[in-house]
Amino acid sequence: MSKATSGTESSIERTERRAQWESFAFTVSAANVVKIENQSYGDESAEHRYLVNVADGEAVSCSCPADEYHPGKCKHCLAVENETAVMQAASASNDELAEACQ
Ligand SMILES: [Zn+2]
Repeated sequence: MSKATSGTESSIERTERRAQWESFAFTVSAANVVKIENQSYGDESAEHRYLVNVADGEAVSCSCPADEYHPGKCKHCLAVENETAVMQAASASNDELAEACQ
């Protein structure tokens, strides 16, 4: 007997798919901080800008309301993690700051 898996998609899986579909712009604004803008909103994109904090190659928190009220990672955290180059850039800027402090 095969298991019926369709129609039982979890909210986390839904969030992951939205993270892949929607169009985001990324800016590394500080060490371990990535500014993310959801360009799917067109002219209203400026109202959908959030800061995602990364640590040890993982997106750990986001400034959006969903991150506070929903379990698991929000779509912004997932979108940042999907962008390997952005994760590397955020970590690299951290290394540079660490060197500057020595
Ligand atoms: Zn978020």
